[in-house]
Amino acid sequence: MMYVFICPKCGHSTMVSLYRSLNCRVCGADMANCEIDFLDWVELSPKERARLIRIYQKADPKDLCFYRPMPYYDHKERNYW
Ligand SMILES: [Zn+2]
Repeated sequence: MMYVFICPKCGHSTMVSLYRSLNCRVCGADMANCEIDFLDWVELSPKERARLIRIYQKADPKDLCFYRPMPYYDHKERNYW
Protein backbone atom coordinates (compact mmCIF):
# COMPACT_ATOMS: atom_id res chain seq x y z
CA MET A 1 0.00 0.00 0.00
CA MET A 2 1.31 3.37 -0.99
CA TYR A 3 0.30 6.65 0.48
CA VAL A 4 0.29 10.08 -1.03
CA PHE A 5 1.75 12.90 1.03
CA ILE A 6 1.36 16.55 0.17
CA CYS A 7 3.30 19.44 1.63
CA PRO A 8 0.74 22.11 2.54
CA LYS A 9 3.47 24.72 2.62
CA CYS A 10 5.18 24.45 -0.76
CA GLY A 11 2.96 21.96 -2.58
CA HIS A 12 5.58 19.26 -3.00
CA SER A 13 4.01 15.80 -3.23
CA THR A 14 5.41 12.31 -2.89
CA MET A 15 4.34 8.69 -2.55
CA VAL A 16 5.64 6.45 0.21
CA SER A 17 4.78 3.01 1.51
CA LEU A 18 6.32 2.82 4.95
CA TYR A 19 6.49 6.20 6.55
CA ARG A 20 3.83 7.28 8.97
CA SER A 21 4.92 10.85 9.02
CA LEU A 22 7.09 12.73 6.66
CA ASN A 23 8.98 15.98 6.37
CA CYS A 24 9.02 17.77 3.07
CA ARG A 25 12.23 17.23 1.12
CA VAL A 26 11.92 20.68 -0.37
CA CYS A 27 11.02 22.97 2.52
CA GLY A 28 11.18 20.74 5.63
CA ALA A 29 7.56 21.28 6.70
CA ASP A 30 5.37 18.46 7.97
CA MET A 31 3.71 16.78 5.04
CA ALA A 32 0.03 15.93 5.18
CA ASN A 33 -1.23 12.49 4.33
CA CYS A 34 -3.58 12.78 1.40
CA GLU A 35 -6.90 10.98 1.51
CA ILE A 36 -6.68 9.99 -2.10
CA ASP A 37 -5.83 6.42 -3.03
CA PHE A 38 -2.45 6.42 -4.75
CA LEU A 39 -3.92 4.51 -7.67
CA ASP A 40 -6.29 7.41 -8.22
CA TRP A 41 -3.44 9.84 -7.70
CA VAL A 42 -1.26 8.35 -10.44
CA GLU A 43 -4.18 8.61 -12.86
CA LEU A 44 -4.74 12.29 -12.21
CA SER A 45 -3.58 14.75 -14.81
CA PRO A 46 -0.96 17.32 -13.71
CA LYS A 47 -3.74 19.88 -13.68
CA GLU A 48 -5.92 17.79 -11.37
CA ARG A 49 -2.98 17.16 -9.08
CA ALA A 50 -2.23 20.85 -8.90
CA ARG A 51 -5.86 21.50 -7.99
CA LEU A 52 -5.74 18.91 -5.21
CA ILE A 53 -2.47 20.33 -3.88
CA ARG A 54 -4.02 23.78 -3.80
CA ILE A 55 -6.84 22.42 -1.66
CA TYR A 56 -4.25 21.16 0.81
CA GLN A 57 -2.36 24.41 0.77
CA LYS A 58 -5.53 26.33 1.57
CA ALA A 59 -6.80 23.90 4.19
CA ASP A 60 -6.74 24.61 7.90
CA PRO A 61 -3.81 22.59 9.29
CA LYS A 62 -6.05 21.12 11.97
CA ASP A 63 -8.06 19.43 9.22
CA LEU A 64 -5.01 17.69 7.82
CA CYS A 65 -3.39 14.54 9.07
CA PHE A 66 0.33 14.94 9.58
CA TYR A 67 1.01 11.87 11.56
CA ARG A 68 -0.01 8.70 9.78
CA PRO A 69 -1.62 7.32 6.71
CA MET A 70 -5.39 7.23 6.81
CA PRO A 71 -6.68 4.51 4.53
CA TYR A 72 -10.24 5.06 3.47
CA TYR A 73 -11.42 2.05 5.44
CA ASP A 74 -9.73 3.20 8.62
CA HIS A 75 -12.70 5.13 9.96
CA LYS A 76 -11.96 4.62 13.64
CA GLU A 77 -8.58 6.24 13.33
CA ARG A 78 -10.02 9.36 11.80
CA ASN A 79 -10.63 12.07 14.29
CA TYR A 80 -11.15 14.95 11.95
CA TRP A 81 -14.39 13.95 10.28
ZN1 LIG B 1 7.34 21.66 1.33
